[in-house]
Amino acid sequence: MRALVKYAPGHGNVAIREVSVREPGDDEILIRVRYCGICGTDLHIYADEFPNTPPVIMGHEFCGTVERVGRAAQASWKPGDRVVGELHTGACGTCALCRAGKPHICDSKLALGSKFDGAFAEYLTLPAWLAHPLPDAIPWEVAGVTEPFAISAHCLIERGNLGSAGSVLITGAATMGLMATIWASRLGVEQIIVAGTQLDADSRLPLARELGATRVVNVQSEDLSEVVRDATNGQGVDAWVECSGSGAAIRSNLPLVRKTGKIVLIGLVGPETIAVPWNTLLYREIDLFGCFSSPPSSWQKALAAEADEAAKLRRLVSAILPLERWEQGFEMVRRGEAIKILIDMHASS
Ligand SMILES: [Zn+2]
Ligand SMILES: [Zn+2]
Repeated sequence: MRALVKYAPGHGNVAIREVSVREPGDDEILIRVRYCGICGTDLHIYADEFPNTPPVIMGHEFCGTVERVGRAAQASWKPGDRVVGELHTGACGTCALCRAGKPHICDSKLALGSKFDGAFAEYLTLPAWLAHPLPDAIPWEVAGVTEPFAISAHCLIERGNLGSAGSVLITGAATMGLMATIWASRLGVEQIIVAGTQLDADSRLPLARELGATRVVNVQSEDLSEVVRDATNGQGVDAWVECSGSGAAIRSNLPLVRKTGKIVLIGLVGPETIAVPWNTLLYREIDLFGCFSSPPSSWQKALAAEADEAAKLRRLVSAILPLERWEQGFEMVRRGEAIKILIDMHASS
């Protein structure tokens, strides 16, 4: 089969290769991959800025159809079942974190697509415990964004518990910021302020509006602190959801959170260390919620909401490309020209 392989350490060293399909073990399933989404993490693996162990098939945001089933998995799965799945391959299942339902941060995790053969491939062999059945009502294009949608469910609901927030500031208007907007709207948050930059002004900020933002701000042409002050009677927002990973945003926005408010941390900042006005956190009694990846519970929440939110989620898919055009897809994501790009693993150009 054809697969996109990171074949050696270092920058780049990614190419389509002919590789053999791995037969499913007893407790594994073989999945015929339909779509696999390009994620920021894939760009970091390409650039060798994210841990990876070549040669490895890349890709972790997939949906597909069950093709063959290992003996121990036959009670739950049969060929033809539609499926999506988590990327926590290698998680031990026995440590305190795994037993608490947090395999996504298990020390033994060897994540799909970076340390375990992933889903930019015609077929994926996956441990069955990581697979979730895909409800019929969810179209394939929407199923293809389940993984980032589960992350946003984990961040906003499980970690941030934003159901009671009246006002939320979301910084960053790429996939995570837009999905955070969808959840905030779904939770009934009254004031949803989404901030982006000039890069987001033409398409992503207007889209944020359509997804439920009550106010969008281009921070390069408007004063965000003034907008937040006006919208909250000078008190600040109940919660700030940081999706940009921008040092400038992180340094300047702490005072926009009201006393006893919270900050949900989603955007990774890269190698830099960011100075923050630490005392502000203390004086204002602000709660911080660090978030990473997507535990099984968040997949259930995402899948339960996806059919309802299908129309909004579909708008996040900017293009669907055949595997041969993977470089173009990576480039579009790198330049911020696309929100989410899906690779159709069985189409040809
Ligand atoms: Zn991802
Ligand atoms: Zn574990």
